[in-house]
Amino acid sequence: MIQEINFIEEVGKRVPVRAKVDILIVGGGPAGIIAAMAAAEDGLTVALIENRSFLGGNMTIGLPILGFLGQKKNQIIKGLPQKFIDRLAERDAASEHRPCPLHMSITLVEPEAVKAVAFDMLREKGVELYLYTSFADVIMEKNQLKGVIIESKSGREAILAKTVIDCTGDADVAYRAGVPCEQGNEQGGVQPPTLMFSMANVDTEKLRMSIAQEPRTYLTDFIPNDYFGQNRQFIVVGLRSLIQKAREDGYRLPTDRTIVITGLKQGEAWINMTRVNGVDGTDPASLTEGEYQARKQIEDIIQYLNAYVPGFEDAFLARTAPFLGIRETRRIVGAYVMTREDILSCRKFDDGIAVASYPLDIHHPVGGDCTLEWSGDCYDIPYRSLLPLNVENLLVAGRSISTTHEAMSAIRVMAPCMAMGEAAGRAARMAVKERIQPSQVNVEKLREELLTEGAYLRV
Ligand SMILES: Cc1cc2nc3c(=O)[nH]c(=O)nc-3n(C[C@H](O)[C@H](O)[C@H](O)COP(=O)(O)OP(=O)(O)OC[C@H]3O[C@@H](n4cnc5c(N)ncnc54)[C@H](O)[C@@H]3O)c2cc1C
Repeated sequence: MIQEINFIEEVGKRVPVRAKVDILIVGGGPAGIIAAMAAAEDGLTVALIENRSFLGGNMTIGLPILGFLGQKKNQIIKGLPQKFIDRLAERDAASEHRPCPLHMSITLVEPEAVKAVAFDMLREKGVELYLYTSFADVIMEKNQLKGVIIESKSGREAILAKTVIDCTGDADVAYRAGVPCEQGNEQGGVQPPTLMFSMANVDTEKLRMSIAQEPRTYLTDFIPNDYFGQNRQFIVVGLRSLIQKAREDGYRLPTDRTIVITGLKQGEAWINMTRVNGVDGTDPASLTEGEYQARKQIEDIIQYLNAYVPGFEDAFLARTAPFLGIRETRRIVGAYVMTREDILSCRKFDDGIAVASYPLDIHHPVGGDCTLEWSGDCYDIPYRSLLPLNVENLLVAGRSISTTHEAMSAIRVMAPCMAMGEAAGRAARMAVKERIQPSQVNVEKLREELLTEGAYLRV
């Protein structure tokens, strides 16, 4: 009789130590880049591992950075995130923070420049970079994280670190270390992923003037039509009647809304319209299927844009994003779990380490629509939400901090993730220098340092 084999034993191995550092950042997206900059400020040894060939994470897939301005149009993210934008702007690779009635603000960035500037800035700070390197496992002593196992073309190696910051977006390190994690809403449903793509030869002037001048035909969600008459850089969200008409004409479209984002290059527009429900961003088979389905959807969406949306008549596919954009996977359970009520009541926390204002923005796990809810002003992100339960020497920054499914839909945009990165990097530095756990960091001192170094906090 043949026995079914579900598991094999991995034999214990001696693993060479590649590096010993003070602070290790895992993941080089918006949170990780800024965390590494903050951690490397005064001579500590800092390393960052990133499994792709470039830095930037979702900053490289054609998305505008949302969240630098609050609902009252005041700038609420400053400090190192702003310094990163300034460096991009020096090479005409970032726009101003342009107010937007729906998104609070949009800051357009050029993906290729993001990769280059992030590389430059981290090398200037002396951060040891390991691209093409995946986090594979944790090295634990009881509940203390002592480092990680990495996997690369060189095989399995170890990096030992006094403090680790998990900026993977998926809480990969925290999950492996035994931190309790949650995923999705009460039914486990997560916001669907999107494969972004850009089109060239788009007449963006025609698009915006059509929307401004023919509001009955080109109805947008929440953004008044005259906004488009006044702004050359914009995001269109809506044109639902065009989608409806196209569907009646036999087009298969995965979303109820047309979402077009102008690029920084002449004639370029990024399209945020693929959507593959049910993808689990922590499962490679599910991700592969999602990638396949999204690529099929792109063919249908391009036909729709060419046929129905003004300005796209002669446009063509320029590039697809380097990976499927994942909106939601694991969230850690930390010392505090941020909720929808915290956001809608504009809650202030004594241990607030970043200020955000982006609304609750849930792309429905099922169907093709989205729900938005605004608070009217700003809310704080507490330090405790970066502190995982049960494991020491670990901080989490970025979209997988400790929140509910609803609260995560608001704090996930990139400017707050960058601000969390700065706070986590500075906290890790304080912990290493004072030989204490991140959970023992004096938050008043952390807030003071953030303010002194130019971050924005409510006092
Ligand atoms: C389709 C889509 C549209 C969005 N629209 C916007 C928008 O318009 N504006 C906005 O501001 N935000 C938007 N968001 C949200 C935002 O992009 C993310 O929530 C944000 O980028 C999260 O930042 P992060 O640093 O936590 O994670 P990420 O940007 O995901 O970065 C994580 C990094 O860690 C690396 N990594 C992951 N796992 C490992 C591992 N095991 N080993 C080594 N490296 C690893 C990844 O390669 C990546 O570089 C959107 C998200 C999606 C998916």
